[in-house]
Amino acid sequence: METKQTTWSISTHSPQETAAVAEALGRLLRGGEVLALIGDLGAGKTCFVQGLAVGLEIPEEAYVRSPTFSLIEQYEGRLPVYHLDLYRLSDADELEAIGWRDCLDGASVVAVEWADQLQGYLPSDYIAIRLRSKGPEEREIQISVCGKPPSWWQTWIER
Ligand code: ADP
Ligand code: MG
Repeated sequence: METKQTTWSISTHSPQETAAVAEALGRLLRGGEVLALIGDLGAGKTCFVQGLAVGLEIPEEAYVRSPTFSLIEQYEGRLPVYHLDLYRLSDADELEAIGWRDCLDGASVVAVEWADQLQGYLPSDYIAIRLRSKGPEEREIQISVCGKPPSWWQTWIER
């Protein structure tokens, strides 16, 4: 049955578990999704993107880590993928300079760490992924759809 549930959450107890959740999500993505990752330093945003990369079949050689200095990295998996880390973003001009608009091409998966920096620049439909540290190895992961839910959302919340 169709539900109106827009938020799904889980607690994980290891980086592997967080990556496994992300991998499962990555397998459902169809392209065009914007994933806004929000959480403090060490919350597990990069760990989550590394799991996504597996689900998106990004070759293992393309070692995925935070593009802390370049701000943006592009990968080819079964879909094109942009990975952004906006920790060091100085202003909106820089966002334009790195080609933020071009990422929103409707075909690529866009995963953004420190997406709180994107206020006013997010598209109307996106997926917010909040990670919270609850202890050395415990993380609460909350996934919410903002705007129109993607086609696979129902599958995800029923899994
Ligand atoms: P961020 O990108 O949010 O700054 P990282 O993914 O780089 O965070 O780092 C998360 C750190 O927390 C890693 O050192 C990882 O090993 C550790 N960690 C411990 N438990 C977990 C967990 N359940 N999920 C994700 N990371 C965890
Ligand atoms: Mg990171």
